[in-house]
Amino acid sequence: ALDAAFFVGWMTAAAAAIDREAERLTELDSAIGDADHGTNMQRGFAAVVKVVEAEPPATPGAVLTTAGRQLISSVGGASGPLYGTLLRRTGKTLGDAAQVSAEELRAGLRAGVEAVGQLGGSAPGDKTMLDALVPAVEALAASFEAAAAAAEEGARSTVPMLAKKGRASYLGERSIGHQDPGATSSALLFAALAEVAK
Ligand code: ADP
Ligand code: MG
Ligand code: MG
Repeated sequence: ALDAAFFVGWMTAAAAAIDREAERLTELDSAIGDADHGTNMQRGFAAVVKVVEAEPPATPGAVLTTAGRQLISSVGGASGPLYGTLLRRTGKTLGDAAQVSAEELRAGLRAGVEAVGQLGGSAPGDKTMLDALVPAVEALAASFEAAAAAAEEGARSTVPMLAKKGRASYLGERSIGHQDPGATSSALLFAALAEVAK
């Protein structure tokens, strides 16, 4: 079973992965956005780690709702409210259990991903983070490793897509041929989850 410490570990590993890949995320966003995705994510996850380490929440649900709140309040871009909603809704779905199973986490994440689609008015195929998140949550039924691989493959699948949401959609056809920055950061979140689950 997964306890609060596991979820703090996930957030810490996610922040480290984002730090390592921040330049790449910003580079991807400079091709089809406004070149701030790496710095947005770094700022957001640094705030998350600071809060959950200073005062570790007692339950998995509380770790994720606290993290989501931090992302919403510290990230100005579209990704802040979207990732904030993902973690908050997932955390709320987990409730106040002291430990959760992998299957409960999957159900929570499924609700979180649905909330992202509702907030963004977006669906898979629009060339957004959902193209990594949706297959990752599906594959989580098999294993954490499978979810990370599915997220990575989902991120790569955005390259030939035409962006229908967010800043990249302003480019129309010129958005084709570039990997979506948000789908790429989503793959990092699932890579971090697989890493802490080892
Ligand atoms: P901004 O676009 O405000 O500068 P970021 O650069 O931090 O914010 O994040 C951009 C990412 O957010 C995109 O690559 C995409 O994955 C995601 N995104 C943007 N709009 C939407 C939406 N409506 N639904 C889902 N994801 C979205
Ligand atoms: Mg941007
Ligand atoms: Mg921006």
